[in-house]
Amino acid sequence: MKKSFLILGIIGIVIVLALLYFFNPVETAFAPKCIFHELTGLSCSGCGMQRFLHAFLHGRFIEAFRFNYILIIFLPYILLFGIERLALTGDTQKKWRSVLEGRAVTISLCIIAPTWVIVRNVLHI
Ligand SMILES: [Zn+2]
Repeated sequence: MKKSFLILGIIGIVIVLALLYFFNPVETAFAPKCIFHELTGLSCSGCGMQRFLHAFLHGRFIEAFRFNYILIIFLPYILLFGIERLALTGDTQKKWRSVLEGRAVTISLCIIAPTWVIVRNVLHI
């Protein structure tokens, strides 16, 4: 049961990444729009993610991070989280999980994400 969800998740991620590799979300009508941005005109913490992934997958890393600077923090976290879930077992996994899902990291991420929304909208970045 758990393994089938994992496989479906990986297949879903690969499909999304393939779509974002072959289709530029700026030029594609079927790319989903951010509801928060559509309603308010403001950027949320995730705005620019599709453009980031498109540029990143084409090796344009600096351009990618300019679409959403918070991914400099969140991308390594997501990567470490994925490693913890997919590659580790036993005590090593428990140690990683206690850090990645620990109070300090969770509180930090809960402060960083909304702060980023304010900063990016005030500075228009
Ligand atoms: Zn958004």
